[in-house]
Amino acid sequence: MGTDNVRLVFEPFTKPLPNIDLDNQPFWDGLREHKFLLFRCKTCGAYYWPKAYCHFHDNEPFMGNLEWAEASGKGKVFAFNIHHWPLHPGFKEDVPYVYALIELNEGPLISSNVIDIEPKDVKVGMPVEIVYEDHPSEGFTLPKFRGLGSDQAKSQ
Ligand SMILES: [Zn+2]
Repeated sequence: MGTDNVRLVFEPFTKPLPNIDLDNQPFWDGLREHKFLLFRCKTCGAYYWPKAYCHFHDNEPFMGNLEWAEASGKGKVFAFNIHHWPLHPGFKEDVPYVYALIELNEGPLISSNVIDIEPKDVKVGMPVEIVYEDHPSEGFTLPKFRGLGSDQAKSQ
């Protein structure tokens, strides 16, 4: 993974805040440390996001067989659309932007944005990797995605 996969954003955050609760707090704590965590089944190693009962066998009570585990932060674009008009005033500087479902290499789908690319160049199936977008004044880090290897492409 490239070393420049961290962005620092100091502008005030005017978008809807991420929905951080007890169940997903470790996910957000991991992002702040630039780690991408998913739920993993201790029995068979299957990954889930958000938390779900493992589909492959009986589960321990209270999902005791699920743990947080660091994932690759890589996947591919499963589906996307290009927003030309802001759905919320906080996005008015960003349009056009790409809202995408990313199919992670570990299997789960996560919704995010594909950045560092002209929206018209985004393709279904395109390999992507995580970019950690740090918002120090708000104290959280957002997971964004960019084309895999796009930092190497830029430096050549
Ligand atoms: Zn399992």
